Amino acid sequence: MTRRAVTGITLYDGSGGPPVPGTSVVWDDRRIISVGTDASADTANAEVITTGGWVVPGLIDAHVHLTLDATVEGMEGVATEPVETTIARARSGARILLGAGITTARDQGSRNGLSIQVAGEQRSGTLTAARIMAAGRGITPTGGHGWMIGVEADGADGVRAAVAAEIAAGADVIKLFPTGGILGSGAHGYAVVMSAEEIAAAIDEAHRHGILVGAHVHGPPGSRWSWMRASTPSSTQPPSPMSRSTG
Ligand SMILES: [Zn+2]
Repeated sequence: MTRRAVTGITLYDGSGGPPVPGTSVVWDDRRIISVGTDASADTANAEVITTGGWVVPGLIDAHVHLTLDATVEGMEGVATEPVETTIARARSGARILLGAGITTARDQGSRNGLSIQVAGEQRSGTLTAARIMAAGRGITPTGGHGWMIGVEADGADGVRAAVAAEIAAGADVIKLFPTGGILGSGAHGYAVVMSAEEIAAAIDEAHRHGILVGAHVHGPPGSRWSWMRASTPSSTQPPSPMSRSTG
């Protein structure tokens, strides 16, 4: 097994202590073997790949869209480009995340739910990338924001069925679009386009499966509205922080 090391780094281990300069870390293909001062770490037989810099725990990005690119044209174009192009962009994005130190990312809505496929490829080892928590398709009303990375559903029963379908497809989290947005066509940014009943039904269905809900909300009315709905007594579990997050 190949041993590799970084030496002379500043280590921040996330435990609450201060960063520790003059540290070495040694690992092999499976695990970290030793962490210590440059003098004490077991760097014998290890290939030193870099000196200096920082080592931190894997970072978490709670809001990515692997199938999008960051342009208005990309928002619209993702709906019509060849699906092979979309999946290639998603795989590439997941690889780039890992290279940037992000070891876990939550995909908050993807074209055709392709993030679920990418998450599976990472889990199975066929894709070396960040670990992905995938929402699959975001749930938006007809004419709502995010339709190109979502599925349109209307009415409490329709939204509940859409949530169930995403969970059945392998979603790790549910994404709602209760308000409009800025990028791409669809409802304008401050419009609150999901009803109280629709939001409550989505949260109830997700929580019955033990799955959390993230919501894209713009503006104070939309934020307050979603917060209130996330706290509705019809939820079978106390609302989690993620149920109330913006996104
Ligand atoms: Zn988003």
